[in-house]
Amino acid sequence: MFDNLSDRLGGVFEKLRGRGALKEQDVRDAMREVRIALLEADVALPVVRRFIDDVTEKAVGQSVLRSVTPGQQVVKIVNDALVEMLGGTDVPGLDLNAAPPVVIMMVGLQGSGKTTSTAKLGKLLKEKQGKKVLMASLDVNRPAAQEQLKVLGEQVGVATLPIVAGQMPTDIAARALASAKLQAVDVLLLDTAGRLHVDAQLMDEMKAVAATTSPRETLLVVDSLTGQDAVNVAQSFAGEVDLTGVILTRMDGDARGGAALSMRHVTGKPIKFAGVGEKLDALEVFNPGRVAGRILG
Ligand code: GDP
Repeated sequence: MFDNLSDRLGGVFEKLRGRGALKEQDVRDAMREVRIALLEADVALPVVRRFIDDVTEKAVGQSVLRSVTPGQQVVKIVNDALVEMLGGTDVPGLDLNAAPPVVIMMVGLQGSGKTTSTAKLGKLLKEKQGKKVLMASLDVNRPAAQEQLKVLGEQVGVATLPIVAGQMPTDIAARALASAKLQAVDVLLLDTAGRLHVDAQLMDEMKAVAATTSPRETLLVVDSLTGQDAVNVAQSFAGEVDLTGVILTRMDGDARGGAALSMRHVTGKPIKFAGVGEKLDALEVFNPGRVAGRILG
C-alpha cells in the first residue's frame, strides 16, 4: 500500500536522520522533495501546499533545530501532519445510533467496488458487532447486480432481500425496510445502482431512496486507484446527498495514495473504511494513524 510514496519519503527522511545538526535550509530542501513526492502521488495541490506550509513552519522552529535529534523530530512533525491529512485522530466511527433497523445506504459509480463493499460491511457488522443484518440491492439497471449481492450474501452468511423482478428502486427500498422491521433486523444495507458517470438520473434515484428510508449513514464507495477522480466523484456526490463517509476500495493495489491523502480536506468527508483486497474479510476500519505509519515505514 502506497509503496511509491513510502519509498520516496523514506529516502528523504533517511538523509535528514543521518545528519546530526540541521539548518533551516536542510529542512526547506527536504520539504521541496516531500512536495514533489506528494504531487507525484496525485495528492491535490491545495492539500500539498497546506501540508508543506504547516510542516515547514513547525520544523524550522528553533526548538526543533537546536534539539539533540532534529531529524527525528522533523519526521514526527511529518507523521502528525500526515495523520491530520488522512482525517485526524478522531475519525467518526459508523453511526448506528438510531432505532433499528438502522439504514446504511451505499452509493457510488459502477465498478467502484460498491456491491463487494456492501457484502464486506454486512459480514463485518455481523461478525465483529453481532448485528442482525439484511442487505438489499436496488440496482435494477445492471443485469445480475441483484443476483451478485445474493451470491455474496450467501458467501458471508448475511441475508438478502428476496428478488422480485420488475420493481423500481424505491419500491425495493420500501419493501426492504418493511421486511427489516418484521424480522427485527438491526442494520439494513442498501446497495444502490451505480452508473459509469455521475448523472442527474443517478442522483435523483439516490435522493428518492434516501427520502423513502432516511438512512443514518450514506457511504460513498470510491476506487483509490482513480486518485483525484475519486475525490472529484466524492465532491459531486457530496453536493447532492448528505454523505456521511467514504469507503475507499482497492487500497491494497494503490502505490500512490493521492485519493486517501486528499479526500478529507477537499471534500470534508471522513474515510470510514478501506477495502484492502478482493476477499470478503478485506475491509478495515480506516485508521489515519496506522496508514501514516505505513507510509513512513
Ligand atoms: P460495483 O460495480 O461497484 O458493485 O463493483 P464490485 O463490487 O462488483 O467490484 C468490482 C471488482 O472490484 C470486483 O472484482 C471486486 O472483487 C473488486 N474489489 C472491490 N473492492 C476491492 C478491494 O478493496 N481490493 C481489491 N483488490 N479488489 C476489490
